[in-house]
Amino acid sequence: MGRGDGILGTNDRASLTSRRKWLKTRETWLVVLGVVLHAVYMLSIFDIYFKTPIVHGMDPVTPRFHTPAKRLVLLVADGLRADKFFEPDSGGNYRAPFLRNVIKQQGRWGVSHARPPTESRPGHVSIIAGFYEDPSAVTKGWKANPVEFDSVFNQSRHTFAFGSPDIVPIFCGALPHSTWKTYPHEFEDFATVVDDIAARVYNLLEDYYRDNRTSYIFTADHGMSDKGSHGDGHPTNTDTPLVAWGAGVKYPRPISSSNHSDCGFRFVDEHMHDAPTPTEWGLHDLERVDVNQADIAPLMSTLLGMPCPVNSVGSLPRDYINFNEATEVEAVLANTKQILNQFLRKSQIKQSNSISFKPFKPLSDYTSILDQIEELISGKDYEAAMKLAENLRSLALQGLHYFQTYDWLMLMSVISLGYIGWMIYLVIHVLQSYTSLPVQLLRKEFTNYQRDDYKKVQFCGCLLMGVISTLLFLERSPPLYHAYTTMTVFLWTQIFSEYQFIKASWKLLHGRRVYYAAKILATCAVSVFILEFLVNSFTERKLYTLYFLVAGVVGSLYLYKSIPWRSGIPIFVCAVCWFLSVFTLMPAEIPENTYLVIGSGAMIIVIGIAARWLDLHAGGNKYWISLCNHEKKKPKFPMLFLLQALFVGLSSIMVPLSTSHRTQKQELLALHQFINWSIAGFSMILPLFSANSLLSRLTSIFLGFAPTFLLLSIGYEAIFYGALSLVLVAWILFENTLLYVRKVKRPSASMKNLEDNVLELDDRYLQLFDMRIPLIFMVLFNVAFFGTGNFASIASFEISSVYRFITIFNPFLMAALLIFKLFIPFMLVIAITKMNKLPRSGCYFLVILVSDVMTLHFFFLVRNTGSWMEIGNSISHFGIMSAQVVFVLLLFALTNIYTKDIHIGSVNPSSQKAM
Ligand SMILES: [Zn+2]
Repeated sequence: MGRGDGILGTNDRASLTSRRKWLKTRETWLVVLGVVLHAVYMLSIFDIYFKTPIVHGMDPVTPRFHTPAKRLVLLVADGLRADKFFEPDSGGNYRAPFLRNVIKQQGRWGVSHARPPTESRPGHVSIIAGFYEDPSAVTKGWKANPVEFDSVFNQSRHTFAFGSPDIVPIFCGALPHSTWKTYPHEFEDFATVVDDIAARVYNLLEDYYRDNRTSYIFTADHGMSDKGSHGDGHPTNTDTPLVAWGAGVKYPRPISSSNHSDCGFRFVDEHMHDAPTPTEWGLHDLERVDVNQADIAPLMSTLLGMPCPVNSVGSLPRDYINFNEATEVEAVLANTKQILNQFLRKSQIKQSNSISFKPFKPLSDYTSILDQIEELISGKDYEAAMKLAENLRSLALQGLHYFQTYDWLMLMSVISLGYIGWMIYLVIHVLQSYTSLPVQLLRKEFTNYQRDDYKKVQFCGCLLMGVISTLLFLERSPPLYHAYTTMTVFLWTQIFSEYQFIKASWKLLHGRRVYYAAKILATCAVSVFILEFLVNSFTERKLYTLYFLVAGVVGSLYLYKSIPWRSGIPIFVCAVCWFLSVFTLMPAEIPENTYLVIGSGAMIIVIGIAARWLDLHAGGNKYWISLCNHEKKKPKFPMLFLLQALFVGLSSIMVPLSTSHRTQKQELLALHQFINWSIAGFSMILPLFSANSLLSRLTSIFLGFAPTFLLLSIGYEAIFYGALSLVLVAWILFENTLLYVRKVKRPSASMKNLEDNVLELDDRYLQLFDMRIPLIFMVLFNVAFFGTGNFASIASFEISSVYRFITIFNPFLMAALLIFKLFIPFMLVIAITKMNKLPRSGCYFLVILVSDVMTLHFFFLVRNTGSWMEIGNSISHFGIMSAQVVFVLLLFALTNIYTKDIHIGSVNPSSQKAM
């Protein structure tokens, strides 16, 4: 905020020390607050997104009709997708001749749309119990349904089941009236013989009973992609075949009109209603009825004349059942009442706990609708009754969604307000502690802090917290709701108690020119733009390529304008940014290529030599003075650089040596293992002994971590290490130019406030333009991760790299080594924040501030539908951003070991006396 001339009222040493102490306490307090806040808000996603939709306490609706079917056979083919089932194979033969015949002669067919996650357990649950994946299954690691539920099997008199050991026990494990068996895991690939099984089962039952009172349903739990994977919402995964025939099922009917208009209705997988049937299926002349997967459960129950499973959200597909009009209406009504019961139960649960209950308005008068339907049925106006019943059912489904998301608005507002409050609180802290703003305010005598006001605000805050907690307690809200609201109210109380400061700052800003306000706005806009870009880069790492292409051009143009003499620096900056932009185009799964690792070793040594040369020969130039070793005395360890370069060379020799041994199916030699560990361990200690000028220390850190990184590398990521370092050098040059230009323009201003400033001696006040530092930091911090992979590629991490360190399978040590490998580029990025002479804690809080803009966005991007991977990724994105408050702090502390005694030279010789 402009330059402070340092006319501080507290010139005496004692009060300065006490202010520094106060600042330390406040920083610690903020870190603790940040950690607690992120932990609490992190948990909120389980109350918002991952709450089970299943309720208990509904009575099954006993049907008032009789059906022809006495028994039903359900055949589920695992992972059989619709088009593979219906279309002919390459030889022109249809794969399922028996079922095809059934479709043409005997029954009905269609596509059953599964909702992602298209996995076996959720698929079977939606077929047999009639509801889709319970998002709270995430708490069980997707392995089980966390809440007990009702199924078609529960309602039956007896169930015979034979199937996969992963599936059958879910439904029959606790069912007394069931006889079940599972096949061993090896037999799971039976999709090809499924038609044969269907034929045999059909013939067996028909021959045995000879009463035409058996219904048959054939379907699949989910589809499968061409690669054999499943789980997401791709049509190959969600579209499964459905064939029904036998007692109570309609016969085939030729298609009435081929007019496939999109009526707007969407299936659970968001696919269009009335999609045209592919001609190669050879079925386009037969009426096809598509359903949602959960509709199969009420279909089965209705065919058997049983109550629908009480937790089902499926709608009875009328086009499958062959009942007379009166029975059909009764069947739909039973299905409607069963869904309505769930709605009423949810409504009742909510109402009993709420102080001000907001009912679902469209269904406030559901009894009169039910009466009306009964009246129409007794008046034999079945068509109108059917319409009303179906309308009531869809309203009840909407009502279920209404109560599922009842608390969302409140919770999301509280959490968002909390994050915003935290960010504002950070801004206030940064302004008060690391900028010259308090000094300016003091000079203009804006600040006459009134403790009375402060106490009043605190009191009001406590009162509000108490009131909200009491209300939540009366509503019997979960304990975490208290934590969310308390945290949010607490933060805003802290903000309001700084009211005087905010008002004074606002007045000061008001007094400035419009230009300054515009500058602040522009900074905010650019920051948000870059952060949004980073949010998107989590799913598309190629964005970094674009970013670095642009950053190279912008950076070098800026430098070209700023540096008054002819210089190669702009070209260098542009070249290295473009070089780094290549890596995010490479595949996330790193292909093995030992030559690249060796080449990278050579490149690292060359970079080291260049930096060394610069360090030794450019000390005289004023531009380089703050970077290089200008104290002309001999370094303590003159051989250090050679030793480090030797280690890098040695490690790049060890890479092919140890790898070739492993490819010959041989164990890693104990000697190799010993050498690798020694190189890695020893080389990381060496940077501590290097000369303490910026360039030599950073070069030394760069060389010190290189051997470990090379030994953990398998391909192009080894080169990435060098490329990232070059970009970091470019950033250093950029910052140095800014520093140099500023000093040349105003030699004294930036130095003067060091004398009596609360901050550490080497630091200067933050200014608005310094916002670039956390932003550039965040970009580099993220590219340090995405440059060599993405989230999916960590999960399937190439573990062959760790085999240069360990011979036996040891997951913990392996994970530790791989995480350490991820850490190394982060350390490089953090190490260079030292050079800006900024207060490091101020930098840290700014980084947390910008990273929380991303956290807030990721909070809204958490999703509870989609494949398990998509859901898991959305949670981990949010979780990783939430954890930054600890993670970045840890890295700052770790790198501080290496960078704390860096001495930064200065144009102004008088400021060196303190060292
Ligand atoms: Zn399956």
